Amino acid sequence: MSRVVCLTDRGTTQDRMFNKKRFFLILLIVVPVTLLLPVSYHTTIAPFFGARRDIGTREMVALRTVPHPQERNKEHCTNNVYVRPPPWSHSLPTIYVITPTYTRVVQKADLTRMSNTLLHVANLHWIVVEDADNKTSLVGNLLNSTGLNYTHLNVHVVEKITSRGSRQRNVALKWLRDTFRLNDSHHGVVFFGDDDNTYSLQLFDEMRYTEKVSVWPVGFTGAMRYQSIKVNALGKVYGWETRYAGTRPFAIDMAGFAVNLKLLLSKSKANFRVYNVGTGQQETRFLQDLVTINDLEPKADNCTKVLVWHTRTTKPPAFKSQGDPNIET
Ligand code: UDP
Ligand code: MN
Repeated sequence: MSRVVCLTDRGTTQDRMFNKKRFFLILLIVVPVTLLLPVSYHTTIAPFFGARRDIGTREMVALRTVPHPQERNKEHCTNNVYVRPPPWSHSLPTIYVITPTYTRVVQKADLTRMSNTLLHVANLHWIVVEDADNKTSLVGNLLNSTGLNYTHLNVHVVEKITSRGSRQRNVALKWLRDTFRLNDSHHGVVFFGDDDNTYSLQLFDEMRYTEKVSVWPVGFTGAMRYQSIKVNALGKVYGWETRYAGTRPFAIDMAGFAVNLKLLLSKSKANFRVYNVGTGQQETRFLQDLVTINDLEPKADNCTKVLVWHTRTTKPPAFKSQGDPNIET
């Protein structure tokens, strides 16, 4: 009887040992898997891990205050589509994108497409200037709902002018000059992005560290498949590849360059001409006040890559019905 008991005791101890081992083994598998799951499912938080090396105190606060995905559903995303830009970094220069815009049937579609692109870019501030007497709720609500950093301005040009969008660009330049001082430690770059163009994300990487003026090719402009820039073996710009007004000192499209913010602040008079400026002359007249050809910094692999396209949104065919006038399109 006692022998049986003895055997049973030994058996129980072995069982316990086995159970303990099994428990730790399961723990070893379950814990890392549980920790990894949220990272793979909610990819929007993955960039925070990547950016951690780079970010300062403000971003660490932002990282801690990121709401739970279920809470985010209500405010910042539609079901599982996240609409928040990456966290702000103190170490990156800010990209100021200046966009003139005017009321037309495809305006909301164009601005929506553009905002979806900009949402991918860190440290980006969108300056949207409406060609209107008053700021419209369509643009205001759209900007507000994107979660982008933005400034909403307006100025109306009544006359029919060839320099479309330039009065608006000047208002944005004034805002920058009123907001920043030349001796601020703040670093930035200014890019003129029309609301109907198409922008690759790489373009923003290319322009971010512009020292004076950086340049790159633009697709579908200058009467060419792409309008480009002539760059010599030493990486210096020496001319233009265009079929349109090639003798201009800077034969380049509005979407083909970016300017260092400090340079713009130091040249306080540099603005776009609104009146008495021929078609295609705005860019060259503006750049002539800022730099010489020797100062240009070719980007996009020495201007061999097209990262921006001068696309145009076609007007939809005439509507057979206007539908409910309260529904915004
Ligand atoms: N634009 C504007 N007011 C106008 C016409 C155009 O503010 O009366 C804006 C437009 O939304 C765009 C930029 O100016 O962001 C350039 O206009 P558009 O795209 O029509 O010019 P294009 O493509 O012909 O250069
Ligand atoms: Mn356009």
